[in-house]
Amino acid sequence: MRTQVAIIGAGPSGLLLSHLLAQGGVDSVVLETRSQEYVASRVRAGILEQSSVDLLTSVGLGDRLRAEGDEHRGIYLNFAGERHHLDFVDLTGRSVWVYGQTEVQKDLVAAGTADARYEVTDVQLHDVDSDRPYVTYVDAANTPKRLDADVIAGCDGSFGPSRQAVPAEHFERTYPYSWLGILADVAPSTDELIYAWHRNGFALHSMRSPTVSRLYLQVPNGTDPASWSDERIWDELAVRLGHGQDGWKLTPGPITEKSVLPMRSYVQTPMRHGRVFLAGDAAHIVPPTGAKGLNLAIADVSLLSKALIAMLTENNHELADSYSDDALRRVWRCTHFSWWMTTMLHTSDDPFDAQLQLSQLKWVTTSNAGATGLAENYAGLPIGF
Ligand SMILES: Cc1cc2nc3c(=O)[nH]c(=O)nc-3n(C[C@H](O)[C@H](O)[C@H](O)COP(=O)(O)OP(=O)(O)OC[C@H]3O[C@@H](n4cnc5c(N)ncnc54)[C@H](O)[C@@H]3O)c2cc1C
Repeated sequence: MRTQVAIIGAGPSGLLLSHLLAQGGVDSVVLETRSQEYVASRVRAGILEQSSVDLLTSVGLGDRLRAEGDEHRGIYLNFAGERHHLDFVDLTGRSVWVYGQTEVQKDLVAAGTADARYEVTDVQLHDVDSDRPYVTYVDAANTPKRLDADVIAGCDGSFGPSRQAVPAEHFERTYPYSWLGILADVAPSTDELIYAWHRNGFALHSMRSPTVSRLYLQVPNGTDPASWSDERIWDELAVRLGHGQDGWKLTPGPITEKSVLPMRSYVQTPMRHGRVFLAGDAAHIVPPTGAKGLNLAIADVSLLSKALIAMLTENNHELADSYSDDALRRVWRCTHFSWWMTTMLHTSDDPFDAQLQLSQLKWVTTSNAGATGLAENYAGLPIGF
């Protein structure tokens, strides 16, 4: 089998890349180990930056997002018994949208542009240093296959084989805490996300729809989600998020999903080797505090699609040659912002750290310059920054 771009991974990076390439007249085949249903139902990110919304809209993927997504002007920061609102639109002219990764994935599947092969196994990359790389795999019917391509796009997340095919340097930070996340069938108790600093640990009130809430608690690494009863989770969320503060109430409801997410920063550089290009989580991981993972994946494939279209339709390699540097500029900005939000909001036993965090929170909620810096990074810098 032959295609122009062999894409490994049918997450948001892989399917969006395939969609963008098709619009530029470049064909691709997407290989995915999981089933289509499994990939579409993974509950992960939920916030889209302005530039992600603009990109999805410009390529025909914005109708449901704009009809069913929820545009937010900003976020709340809660600390020391007070709630402060940061209005990104006033500060930077840019907003964010609440629209789950599951919904983005459904829209990509519904677009029907990707030629995706699901439930494949034993995916291996070959001859990536040559102009004729290829991928071998075993298809869902257990038949060994070979896919020849001009280029391989590694969109296979942090555990896929593409990362290993790129000899690279990596930078890594593991944090001493995780998030216990829940999905609950209850209307959100807030109109916009609440990020809460509390001596007991960080908490986040987020949402997925007018009837589904998504909430998180900072917990120690290695926490077993089963060790937290539903009642204990709601009680602790109430304490950390400020239930009763100025009359605000957290309304509990039935918990439908409970999981623990470790926090890690990871950047692999460069993001290209020979004819293999990495995009999304295959190249970098950020802790979710800055809501950047999905947005970075979208920004990467926006740059990569332009580079591959120029390379494969006009034999112009300029953008492909600068892809890694171009993508990494934004990756490092978002890596710093995610680290900054994480270290500002997650507490430890160290009283000195706590005072520094409170000082920083006071600064971003009282200084226009401090607030604008947070807003500019959270609402997102333009793709190509
Ligand atoms: C548990 C979890 C929770 C998260 N929560 C948040 C959040 O709250 N907020 C936020 O902003 N971000 C969050 N993220 C990050 C965000 O979801 C990712 O940044 C985003 O999914 C990146 O998309 P991607 O397509 O690059 O990678 P992925 O979504 O990981 O997709 C990679 C795909 O490659 C496939 N694959 C793997 N190995 C192979 C192989 N050998 N062959 C073929 N296919 C393969 C995988 O099955 C997967 O479908 C979370 C991530 C995880 C893992």
